[in-house]
Formats: sequence, C-alpha cells, structure tokens
Amino acid sequence: MIRIGQALLIAGLGLAGFVASDWPQETARAQEVATNQVATGSTWQGASFPVENFQAYTSAFGYRQSPSGYSQEFHHGLDLAAPEGSYIRSWWNGTVVEVSDDSACGTSVVVQSGEWEHIYCHMQGHVETANGGRYLVDREGGIQMREGQQLAAGTRLGRVGMTGRTTGPHLHWGMKYSGQWVDPALVLRAMYAQQRAGHSVSSRPN
Ligand SMILES: [Zn+2]
Repeated sequence: MIRIGQALLIAGLGLAGFVASDWPQETARAQEVATNQVATGSTWQGASFPVENFQAYTSAFGYRQSPSGYSQEFHHGLDLAAPEGSYIRSWWNGTVVEVSDDSACGTSVVVQSGEWEHIYCHMQGHVETANGGRYLVDREGGIQMREGQQLAAGTRLGRVGMTGRTTGPHLHWGMKYSGQWVDPALVLRAMYAQQRAGHSVSSRPN
C-alpha cells in the first residue's frame, strides 16, 4: 500500500477536531482511532462511493429522534437515498463475512477489509443456503454472492430496496473499525480530500 500524503494527514487532523466536539466519550475514542488510521495507514484512492444514482444524505450518524418521536436513539450509520433498484458497490476490497435477511437491517451484507467492517442494509433479494454455503441472491439484479467470497472495491454487491425497518428506498451504510462504530461521513471526507489532492497533483502543468 502507498503511504498517504500530507494533504490527507491535515484532513485527518481536521476530522479529529470535528469529532471531539459533542460525541459521547466512547464513540469519540473510536472515531479518533479510526481517524488516525485514515490519516496514517491507508490510501483511499481506490475506494468506491457505495451507491449509484445517489440523491441525498437523509440521516446522519449519531443520536436522532426515534420514529415514534418520543425518544432518542443512536443511528449507527449513514443513510444515502437512491432510487429503488440502484446498484450498491463495495466501498473497499474485502471478504463477505455475513449475509442476512432477518433483522431490522433487512437483506444485508457485511464486508471485512482488515480492521474495517462495512455494512449495507435494506437491499433487495434474500438469503439462500446451497451446497453448504450461504448466498445473498437478487436474481432480477443479477446478484449472487457467497459468504467467504472476495470482492474488489467498486464491485456491485446488491441493489437498493425496502427490506427491514425503512420508510423509503435508501442504503443504510454502517462502518466499524476494530469493532467500534465509526461515522462513514468521516471516511467519505477523507476520500474526497485525498482525491482532490491527487487531482491537483495530476493536473499540474508540465
Ligand atoms: Zn440508517
């Protein structure tokens, strides 16, 4: 892996300042660890935005009003609205470690990339068991994915649906670093910062 440049390090430090403001302590620590990892250990040039036909961020990571309106709940991910049927892409190279269709997350997949786990919820299709393996199957979308399968960054792994607890078509995108939830928006900001930096270098006149 290529070591990242100074631009991302600065962006990473900026993120550390951002998360320190009003997060609960434990979350802030996890965010800080992940942010340091973003700043020192990785290059995100090859990382993929996780959904096609993206429309809007509809719910951020963190505390929010519960759907009943009477209590607060913690939203462990970032919601990205996109039309039903839009393809979802693996954020990073990794291994499919879990496919599921029986929780509030709906038809979902967990991909592991080193210390990172990325989770995709509310997709179309369902889980099937065959030949001793567990598969996520979305025939109409041409998706068949086995637990244990390797994925390249940007691989289409499912389609936006309405399975699980959801009121509209969107991708719920969750992220963990070393088992701790992390705000996916931090990773997106680091990706953008690095891609901007990369662009300014490559567009420098000769
Ligand atoms: Zn969500």
